[in-house]
Amino acid sequence: MAFTNTVIDNINIGKLSIQDLKASELFDQLPVAVYTCDSLGRITSFNSAAAKLWGREPEIGKDLWCGSWKIFNPDGTPLPLDTCPMARTLKEGVAVEGEEIIIQRPDGSYRNILPYPVPKFDAGGTLIGAIITLIDFTGIARDIAFQKKADENQALLAAIVDTSDDTIISKTLQGMITSWNKAAERMFGYTKEEVLGKHISLLIPPARLREEEVIIGNISKGNKVDHFETIRIAKNGREIPISLSVSPVKDSTGKIIGASKVARDITLQKQTENRLHRDVKNLEILNALGKKITATMDARVILQKITDATMQLTGAGFGIFFYNKIDEKGVVNTLYASSGNPEAIELFKTHGNTGIFHSPFNGEKIIKIDQVTSEPGYSKDKPLYGMPLHFAIESYLALPVLSTSGVVIGGLFFGHPEPGKFTEEHELLASAIAVQAMVALENAKLYEEIRALNLMKDEFIGMASHELKTPVTSIKGYLQIVERNMPEGKSKAFVSKASLQVSKLTSLISDLLDVSKIEAGKLPFSYTVFNLRVLLNDIKDIMQYTNSSHTMKLLCPDKLLMIEADKQRFEQLIINLVSNAVKYSPDGQKVIIRAKASGDRIIISIQDFGIGIAADQLKRIFSRFHRVENLAGHMSGLGIGLYISQEIVNGHQGKLWVKSIPGKGSTFFIEMPVRRPLNGVHL
Ligand code: ADP
Repeated sequence: MAFTNTVIDNINIGKLSIQDLKASELFDQLPVAVYTCDSLGRITSFNSAAAKLWGREPEIGKDLWCGSWKIFNPDGTPLPLDTCPMARTLKEGVAVEGEEIIIQRPDGSYRNILPYPVPKFDAGGTLIGAIITLIDFTGIARDIAFQKKADENQALLAAIVDTSDDTIISKTLQGMITSWNKAAERMFGYTKEEVLGKHISLLIPPARLREEEVIIGNISKGNKVDHFETIRIAKNGREIPISLSVSPVKDSTGKIIGASKVARDITLQKQTENRLHRDVKNLEILNALGKKITATMDARVILQKITDATMQLTGAGFGIFFYNKIDEKGVVNTLYASSGNPEAIELFKTHGNTGIFHSPFNGEKIIKIDQVTSEPGYSKDKPLYGMPLHFAIESYLALPVLSTSGVVIGGLFFGHPEPGKFTEEHELLASAIAVQAMVALENAKLYEEIRALNLMKDEFIGMASHELKTPVTSIKGYLQIVERNMPEGKSKAFVSKASLQVSKLTSLISDLLDVSKIEAGKLPFSYTVFNLRVLLNDIKDIMQYTNSSHTMKLLCPDKLLMIEADKQRFEQLIINLVSNAVKYSPDGQKVIIRAKASGDRIIISIQDFGIGIAADQLKRIFSRFHRVENLAGHMSGLGIGLYISQEIVNGHQGKLWVKSIPGKGSTFFIEMPVRRPLNGVHL
């Protein structure tokens, strides 16, 4: 098939002229795919570049110009054969210039092609075929596609960034803002136009400017900054607590050229954290207050602690607590405690409690005023709610303290010179405190009542024993005279027995008198120096004489055991313990008294082999009127012997304790200083 030579006419390359070359040779050497087809599209000739492009050699006169290869539109949709550029040229007899198509080669790979079909006519003007140049631009197409994809990705990313709820900002390493999304606009109040190109310090509080240096320092080293909690400033000056994550931005060569920041507003989180923190602190204060006020029974101390704690919890400028204490005769004694503004205290005091409880607590509810001076009833001369509020006070909080029966027994009043200081939370806290106050004050009252009753009882015991002592002493004297002058016989034995019982009565009365002396803090001691061994020996003999059921033993290695103490009280102490040893070992065996010096102290012990004492009773038996139930129930006694013994030992700066095994017996120990203590309180 002849190839047109119009293109190569008159081209001269040095000595070699193109005219010297065979058209078919030239055609074959062209790097561009060229082929010819007849009017039906059957391939009639092709060059090597065309075969290479198609991926195989076509069959001359058989394979169609394009139908033997699958063809597609640029967007990948199949292209119908009759609409492809080559078919159009053959159908319409016109040339088509480079309309992109994609072909699929036998190995499955795709090529992007720009076909240039030119129709060929015979001399009579009949279309006889076409000459088609195919330009393969697969590489370029890929770059374009890549660029397109990159553009698409960029657009997608921009859309994501813009619709993100998180604030996303990017900046150069010098801190110049280079991007700013919608969330950033919402968070900081600046539009993109206002901030692009501006320095990031626009958002940073002056005191935190150093942070930026640290962040940029990290980013320059390629490090990320994760969840850094800080504060930034919005356009309107509001400080926003944020959590910041900053990552380095690199160029295509991997060089760090800037930073992208994701900022999250953590105002709510911070508020929750702060609230939690505050709640814990408040609970601690309430708890500490609870402990403090239950540890005391003094109403004044309770009032003060309550006032101080409420001040602390509400942040009030002053606080006052009035308490109407009603005594048993119904007389009201108003106690108060205050803290903060002394002027307030004076005013409250001078006004007494006039109207204080009635006006504010008519409905027995809390009064909270944000701005006292703007209240309708406010006037400097006419105090609001009967209260002397005519000094610097704006916020006001008053709440009643009710008794368990619902009666207003007091009131808590708090003020602050600034308006709107008290919140609902303060109201709640103060109410919780008012309940604590009520419980503590009622306890204190109860305690006082019990104490008063106790005092009365002590007074009665003291008085009764005193009154009993005189007649019993004279009975005892008369009995002794009668006993001495009576002839031996049955009657004398009766009188002796009567005399013994009266002696017991005398010792009971003197024990009771001792108890009232101890209660009044008036148990006197008169110190002398004496040989304890002699005293113990005498006691042992007397006790042995009156208690033939038991064997009394004294084990005392030292002949001389000198001690400076109240001899009479000492005797009373040992007799008490030995009598108990006898009384609480009814199956009678022996009682052992031991004494020995140990440095500047003397240790005495009295051991019995009786009923013993349960472990949980060991401490309690030294309390006034305490007797071990069940075991000692059938053994007479008042439960005051050990109490007095303890007081005697304490008064000598000594120690008294017991070791015991139930069913096996008990040993009471006394440890006493040899010399009278310098700081001895009872002289
Ligand atoms: P009283 O003997 O009059 O009851 P005390 O004050 O002397 O009073 O003793 C208090 C309680 O301690 C006694 O009631 C008894 O239960 C217990 N007690 C005292 N001494 C002994 C002892 N040696 N053995 C067992 N229990 C004792």
